[in-house]
Amino acid sequence: MLPITFRRFMRPVLFKLALIALVAALAGQAWGARAGWMTASGLLLLYVLGFVVAIYRTIRWLEASQRRDAVDAPVGEWNSIAAVLYKARKTEAAYRAELDRSVTQLREVLERMPDGVVIVDASMLIQWLNPMAEQHLGLARKDVGLRLTNLVREPAFIDALTASGDSVASVPVRLKTGRVVVLQTIPFSPTQSLIVTRDVSEADRLDTMRRDFIANVSHELRTPLTVLSGFLELASPSAPISVQHLELMRTEALRMQRLIDDLLVLSRLESTAAPSQEDHVALSPLAQRAVDLARALSAGRHEIRVESMPADLRGAEREIESALTNLVTNAVRYTPAGGKITVRGELDDDGIALVVKDDGVGIAAEHIPRLTERFYRVDKSRSRDTGGTGLGLAIVKHVVLRHQGRLDVSSQLGEGSEFRLWFPRQRVVLHEPVREPEPLVVS
Ligand code: ADP
Repeated sequence: MLPITFRRFMRPVLFKLALIALVAALAGQAWGARAGWMTASGLLLLYVLGFVVAIYRTIRWLEASQRRDAVDAPVGEWNSIAAVLYKARKTEAAYRAELDRSVTQLREVLERMPDGVVIVDASMLIQWLNPMAEQHLGLARKDVGLRLTNLVREPAFIDALTASGDSVASVPVRLKTGRVVVLQTIPFSPTQSLIVTRDVSEADRLDTMRRDFIANVSHELRTPLTVLSGFLELASPSAPISVQHLELMRTEALRMQRLIDDLLVLSRLESTAAPSQEDHVALSPLAQRAVDLARALSAGRHEIRVESMPADLRGAEREIESALTNLVTNAVRYTPAGGKITVRGELDDDGIALVVKDDGVGIAAEHIPRLTERFYRVDKSRSRDTGGTGLGLAIVKHVVLRHQGRLDVSSQLGEGSEFRLWFPRQRVVLHEPVREPEPLVVS
């Protein structure tokens, strides 16, 4: 549309006024001055009435265009006015749509952020919050308008909120939702602030695990070291260490040795995700070797049977052997003399399980989920007396996980236990079928 100018706007107006003057002059000429004036007044009146109708039509058209109804646009000079108004409205609508789009986009970004975001005013009234903030702080959409510090009342949270406002390094806060979060307060207007929460529960859990692990290892090493250094302190040239004490020192040194060996195995297993080798593992001889070791440990106190294996496996032979040996020696250590221990393989469509079953002391149900935790022991003194490090089942679990398998435990206190090392179908190597000798055809 061409820009409106005074000349362009005035041209039709002047043309109509000139036409009225001409018609009035002609009427005056024909019927006298009075008739001329009356014609001029009548035509001017009509022109003004035309204006009024045009104003009405313009308003109607503007209203209709707001509702997007189809109504004819006003004509004449009013058309230019309507066009200007219409253009202004369209520009404003486009601007508003753009603004709406930006706000929606910004809101979507904030909604999907992995961090929690809460907008609060100067008196901590919640103005907006995203779903992550709801999860982190145990809040809900309906809490908008309420005071944040009334909803999350833990003193640690309030302290962290105050501290984070001064940009002090974020301190992790443990909330009653069970989560550990760090906070950051970012003022973005004189009366509004953004509170950003980040969930660090997993990092905190790993940190706690690391600290517990170091504490446990230190504790496990301290006991034998105390015994060793105690005997060494007592020894002097006049009172040499007795054979009995030397034997005790040897036992403690061996305990430390076993602990360090197991720690090294665990760290090796943890440092790589997949087994170091993919051997064809012949399970029957492997089970036989594990059982031979267990028989040596049992020294004839148990009846230990091994059945032939229905298939072989693909995996790291050393790892699988160490897992099975751990299970069979555990069976010996936790089964009183006279007990029975069986090792067998079970093959089905899903995979193969190496099963170690004993009729020993058994394990109460509440301990079963925790057995594979490092240093978790049901009966501490029995574990120690039989040379346990508390790491055996942790090693077993790592080995099966690295072979995409799992460790299943079922047990009844006082009745015995069954440990199953399960490996998936893709790791099973079926035995070659025994070929029947071809019949001799005599022609
Ligand atoms: P440990 O060196 O103490 O034996 P493990 O990790 O091998 O450590 O086993 C963890 C705990 O599981 C043991 O302390 C023991 O209480 C329990 N446990 C393991 N195997 C058996 C079993 N066959 N019968 C009963 N309890 C067992």
